[in-house]
Amino acid sequence: MQTPDIFSDKTPSIFSASSRYARYKKNFDLWLPEYESFCNESGVLGQRLLQEYPKTGCKAVLNFEEFNQITNELLGGHYSPTKNEIHIGQACLERKENLFYILFHESIHALQYHHCASCSANMSYSSLPIVLSPMDQVIQIILEERDAWVKTHYFYYGFHCDLPAEDAGHAKELSRQLIKSSAGILDHETHNDGKNSHEWYIDYAIKGIEDMADWHEEYNDTEFEYVRLDQSDIWRLGNTLNINCFFKQKTEAIYPPNIEITDEQKRRITVLEKRMAIDDYAALPTLAEGIKTYELDYQSYLKNNLAKIQKEVDQG
Ligand SMILES: [Zn+2]
Repeated sequence: MQTPDIFSDKTPSIFSASSRYARYKKNFDLWLPEYESFCNESGVLGQRLLQEYPKTGCKAVLNFEEFNQITNELLGGHYSPTKNEIHIGQACLERKENLFYILFHESIHALQYHHCASCSANMSYSSLPIVLSPMDQVIQIILEERDAWVKTHYFYYGFHCDLPAEDAGHAKELSRQLIKSSAGILDHETHNDGKNSHEWYIDYAIKGIEDMADWHEEYNDTEFEYVRLDQSDIWRLGNTLNINCFFKQKTEAIYPPNIEITDEQKRRITVLEKRMAIDDYAALPTLAEGIKTYELDYQSYLKNNLAKIQKEVDQG
């Protein structure tokens, strides 16, 4: 399925950064209140978002420092877990539809962080010394993006928006269609470097893990235990807004999911696994098992992770 070319508008270079910012700030302030009615008119996905997103406490902000950096076509905005904010870049402030697209996409990421402990089971955010293996972090990021992209796509084009949002049969039908589209949703979005989004996200994830491993080796002596995802983590990742985009029911969820990885990406993951003394990632304990060894339940671990992330911000 083709994802929309929503960033085709190029910013005229005659504007200075600050005057561009002022112009876009005006658009942002004008369009943000209209987003709610757009959601309301966008069927079950938009209406469920209006119910669920406010519970995360996340806010969308326009920040001058980041404004100029977020110009990459994929990064019209991003969700910052540490600030619990959606940061909006200039690439999506030329047209209000672009802003709505990004707001919805990043709101899905906010929901993932607030419902799936696997999002924060990494060296930076985990409140316990347990973190996902490099391969599982790669799987994690691809599933996060498939969930966010496929739901945003259906939201943006208003699929089934004429049907009642609370109709259970309607939600089921929508889930069936999302399942069909989610596996390939990252395949068609191309970048300047010729990579599709799927490849780009995996490179991005691996680079992040490499940087984190370097930092850890240099400055931090925590002994981490590496864990993997399981079927319920994968189900949960596809289940934002209570409409699953990977499986019809929880009992059908499988691990590992089918994710294509290039030989070069595999090589870099193997190097990371060696650094972390992981012989066989599939044989690792699951995240749920790791949490249990600390006599914690899933929800408490998730709550502790979110509190830890927030505390790091408060301490500057
Ligand atoms: Zn995303």
